Amino acid sequence: ATYSFEGKTILITGGAGDIGKATAQRFAANGAGVVLLDLNETKMAEMVQELEEYNVPLGAFQCDVTLADSVANAFSGAMAQVGQIDYIFNNAGYQGVFAKTDEYPADDFQKVIDINVIGVFHVLKAAAQHLRDSGGGAIVNMASHAGVDGPPNMLAYAASKFAVIGMTQTAAKDLAAYGIRVNSLSPSLIGPGVMWTRQTELQAAVGSQYFDLDPKVVEQQMINSVPMRRLGSLEEVANGVSFLMSDEASYITGFNLDITGG
Ligand code: NAD
Repeated sequence: ATYSFEGKTILITGGAGDIGKATAQRFAANGAGVVLLDLNETKMAEMVQELEEYNVPLGAFQCDVTLADSVANAFSGAMAQVGQIDYIFNNAGYQGVFAKTDEYPADDFQKVIDINVIGVFHVLKAAAQHLRDSGGGAIVNMASHAGVDGPPNMLAYAASKFAVIGMTQTAAKDLAAYGIRVNSLSPSLIGPGVMWTRQTELQAAVGSQYFDLDPKVVEQQMINSVPMRRLGSLEEVANGVSFLMSDEASYITGFNLDITGG
């Protein structure tokens, strides 16, 4: 599906990652200005170069979403550069290590919560303030199907993504009066990409009853668990973001859209 985002601007956190990139390309191709926020400056700079062919306003700001000041500075920088921002894709995230609950490392649990919960909160709050003051807009928070049905060996990630869906429901209620819609997206097996490769290798390495010890076999096991028997593409995730941001979704808020192939 394509929607016209002519004259609009989207801010994407985790903008240097796989899903951030696919979404940036989709919105730029449909006329939107794109501002990327990410820890990784080098990858963002490469992406900005790639996006130049679309002739839309572009910006990139180095930002650590776990720090309120860093998010606030990036938002002010973005506003100074592109003026109005209409859509915020709150997408930066970290998958965590893979370990059984009795072995899950506390420091990694903290790290996952810092990025996926506290980070999402800082960006959600900054987005809410900006959109409140500028007359409304739409926010999409990146959850995961792990936030609907906790997968094995992903304790912190599941906790963090359940939290994202909860924050989405509350924020949708709190911000409805300002004309701000807030929805979440829950993909499951998406690839190719960093997260897909990482999860097949790390699930294999755990050695649990759920997956084989060979990552190639794990890939097949995972794909066989999907009714549609294939991975979702990055573009199919961008489709979801695009729909939820668009005016076609004008009466949809507080909703979690599963993108799981069944
Ligand atoms: P990715 O690793 O390619 O991208 C994540 C990006 O977030 C990276 O560019 C990274 O630098 C950035 N990031 C991490 N910590 C940050 C911080 N503190 N501040 C700013 N940026 C930070 O992964 P992706 O597949 O593009 O994932 C994007 C989002 O989608 C994540 O929230 C992830 O949990 C979610 N998700 C992915 C999948 C999948 O299979 N790919 C499935 C469900 C949900």
